[in-house]
Amino acid sequence: MLKKTDAGVALKLDEGDPLSDYRDRFYFDEEEITYFDGNSLGRLPKATIALGHDLIQRQWGQCLLRSWTDDWMALSARIGDKIAQLVGADKGEVLVADSTSVVLYKLVVAARQAQTGRSGIVTDDMNFPSDLYIIQAAAQLVNSHHTIKMVGSDNDITIPSKEIVETIDDDTALVVLSHVSFKSSYVYDMARITQKAHEHGALVLWDVSHSAGALPIDFTACSVDLGVGCSYKYLNGGPGAPAFLYIRKMHQSGLFNPISGWFGHHSPFDFVKNYKPAGTIDRFLTGTPPVISIALIEPGVDLILEAGIENIRQKSVNQTDYLITLWDAGLADLGFVLKTPRESDVRGSHISFGHIDGHRINRALRDYYSIYTDFRAPDNLRIGITPLYMTYQDIHKVFSAMQEIVVKKLYEKYPEVSERVII
Ligand SMILES: *Cc1c(COP(=O)(O)O)cnc(C)c1O
Repeated sequence: MLKKTDAGVALKLDEGDPLSDYRDRFYFDEEEITYFDGNSLGRLPKATIALGHDLIQRQWGQCLLRSWTDDWMALSARIGDKIAQLVGADKGEVLVADSTSVVLYKLVVAARQAQTGRSGIVTDDMNFPSDLYIIQAAAQLVNSHHTIKMVGSDNDITIPSKEIVETIDDDTALVVLSHVSFKSSYVYDMARITQKAHEHGALVLWDVSHSAGALPIDFTACSVDLGVGCSYKYLNGGPGAPAFLYIRKMHQSGLFNPISGWFGHHSPFDFVKNYKPAGTIDRFLTGTPPVISIALIEPGVDLILEAGIENIRQKSVNQTDYLITLWDAGLADLGFVLKTPRESDVRGSHISFGHIDGHRINRALRDYYSIYTDFRAPDNLRIGITPLYMTYQDIHKVFSAMQEIVVKKLYEKYPEVSERVII
């Protein structure tokens, strides 16, 4: 009989894994790193290497500006249409552009302008800091009288929908929330919050940076107005890869891009003096897009579409469940606190463990075991689960290492005060 914590259990689970072949579609260096930061910077798909070569050598080097008409002009929309399938949007509702912070700014300002007579923006304190900074900047624009209502979590893990819903009123212009919390992995009730906001005439913007490519999202079924998301995390688009934005069809003609450059113009190549926005979501483009970075997003998105987001979610649930089982059996007694919901239906694809020595354990994992996790203040050790290239044995490995580090006190050689932690 195998015990729950035996490595043999992980081996069996790997043997029965229907997605196991996908690991080989990613690049693995000879230096063996066990990687739990795919929720921060996804791994490199092998197909991206070949595409990168073609982009630089043939498309840029050989074809030069002919490539604009051959492919580059269509990239933002074409890849947007593929991402649309992952977020439950229609063709023409998703566009790839800028960074998540920038597209968020564009949409918050646009929504604010469209909601004349309303002054409230509702968000919460578990939101990603950059999102909060952007909302603050948008609320402080000249002639704006917007107030931000920030709902507070009392445990830094969950915020009941009820508390958010009760903060929304007839003065609320916009509700801006992250679908999956970057720290605790809590999944918000997108359908309910959106519906309640609509009852008050508010628009809703969901940031799906931590859910796109990790779990199914259905913007259409939830009647979501606006969305943004990141493509370098679970979509494996590469460092700093451009973000995507979503605008429900019915809103597209009524929203105006506050950074109205020529790529968002109705006819950019007429070079007329006055701005006239494109009739489509393209009006939210600004200047010449970063072609190489946008193009490199596509292989990662293709892999997810091929594997199927439902299948990816199933494996993610199984793997996060497995890690929680191991925590119950062998980490809870060593000072690790589960800082992620236990119930899989309100849990995204990463697990946070609180530990008083979290920062030092994170460092010991890298130095002694080449295991990459990350640390988020005050005490969160985050473990990102990326089913396409992660094995159950990887999960068992981080579990054993965490145990050993604490039992043997391997973390003690690191300073207690956390230094500036990067990424
Ligand atoms: C990762 C992430 C971002 C990243 O924004 P950038 O502009 O790409 O730096 C923004 N919001 C959320 C919720 C994120 O998880």
